[in-house]
Amino acid sequence: MAQDQTSLGELGSQRGLIAQASLMVDMELTPEIRLKAILEGTGAGTWEWNLDTGEVIYNPRWADLLGYCLEELQPVTFKTWENLCHPKDLQEAREALARYLDGDAPQFDCVVRMLHKFGDWRYIHTRGTLLTDDQGLDTRWLMGTHLDVTREKLSQHQMEQLAKSLPGIIYTFVLEPGGRYYFSYLSEKTWDFYGLTTDECLADPDKIFNLIHPDDLPRVHESIAVSAETLEEWVCEYRVQTKRGSYWLKGVSLPERDPDGRISWHGMTINIDTQKNLELELEQLSITDELTGLYNRRYMLRKLQESVAQGERYGDTFSLISLDIDFFKIINDSYGHPTGDAVLKRFADIIESSTRKSDIVARTGGEEFIIFMPNTGLSEAGQVAESLRVTLQTESFVSDEGETFSITFSAGVVNWSGSDTQSTSVRDLLSACDQSLYAAKRSGRNRIVADGDGE
Ligand code: GH3
Ligand code: MG
Ligand code: MG
Repeated sequence: MAQDQTSLGELGSQRGLIAQASLMVDMELTPEIRLKAILEGTGAGTWEWNLDTGEVIYNPRWADLLGYCLEELQPVTFKTWENLCHPKDLQEAREALARYLDGDAPQFDCVVRMLHKFGDWRYIHTRGTLLTDDQGLDTRWLMGTHLDVTREKLSQHQMEQLAKSLPGIIYTFVLEPGGRYYFSYLSEKTWDFYGLTTDECLADPDKIFNLIHPDDLPRVHESIAVSAETLEEWVCEYRVQTKRGSYWLKGVSLPERDPDGRISWHGMTINIDTQKNLELELEQLSITDELTGLYNRRYMLRKLQESVAQGERYGDTFSLISLDIDFFKIINDSYGHPTGDAVLKRFADIIESSTRKSDIVARTGGEEFIIFMPNTGLSEAGQVAESLRVTLQTESFVSDEGETFSITFSAGVVNWSGSDTQSTSVRDLLSACDQSLYAAKRSGRNRIVADGDGE
């Protein structure tokens, strides 16, 4: 800051401004001189209009804004302004003036297009106030300024056009240090996305937050908090439930922190419903066994990796049952492959209805299945396997040709515990489970071997 002041001071003296200013002090700095200097600094044109006599006074800058010198515009009257105004904006200017004179607006304030000498239209911001009898005047003078806001208007227009052409809502979301939050800018697409007007959402940001699926809302809040903390890009996919239906949206925005601690995210919200549903469908397909609808080997391995990682942290336990249908080849050979497929499907249903909701059942090979049982000890898992074995014995299957037959399976059961001093890896655990299964096969099939019982 101090650095800036010094350099500004240096700049001033280099350009002779300081010298000029001290000269003015010597000349006595009257309020009139001061006002004139300030006005010149703003680059504003000034106008004075006597509402009673119709007399009009413009300063040279007023004419200069439109490329003229005052002499060229002589005689200057109220008409001079009217003639240079865009006809379509005149009515709006008259209405703004009427509002002010009727006491409905604190100031005469409007933006009108005015014709520049070069032939192009300039946006002129007009402001004015009335000096009345109360201020000791005989007549009423309306006085004000003209400022060229063409650049601002054009960039605003560009921004609006850009917002219209983009496939999403662009926004600035602000979080104040005290926790208050709001949108300081939202493009008009809020209507297409939420069925809400931009003004509604600007007035109350919760109108948008309330549409977020309750299962996703905590994740949205959490990700905003993380982005506020790290100042890293906010990226979040979430569902909304609107009058127009439910769909997936994705928000991406970059945060910046003001010196006062306020954080503003500038970004865009897009609709990703089609691609997200496709992605979820693909994800589901990639973990599902096509024939039985159970999970597949890939999912079971992922689940085991996750459970081992989590169990090592929290000391959880789980059990696994590995099942293999006995002499399945003979079923295929005797009744045909389609009957074999029907047996696999039916067997899958029987396993599912014999296990708990929290258990995960996967078909991991041709006629091989694994049941994952969270928070389950070895003997409890052994009992589930045994009761399934007994259930299956009473089930009768019918071939495509109408012949009835029954099937049996052999199973190995193992337990994993995160509280063991040396917990087993997923590979070793599956290998141990297979060993138990082979032991069951070797010792005659249609039986269960729990870890430790094997040879
Ligand atoms: P074991 O008691 O030793 O397990 O004997 P098994 O006949 O069940 O074992 P084996 O591994 O010799 O044969 C498995 C059979 O499972 C062979 C294969 O044709 C059959 N199979 C694998 N996948 C499918 C499938 O998707 N549909 C049908 N119908 N049969 C399958
Ligand atoms: Mg097999
Ligand atoms: Mg088999």
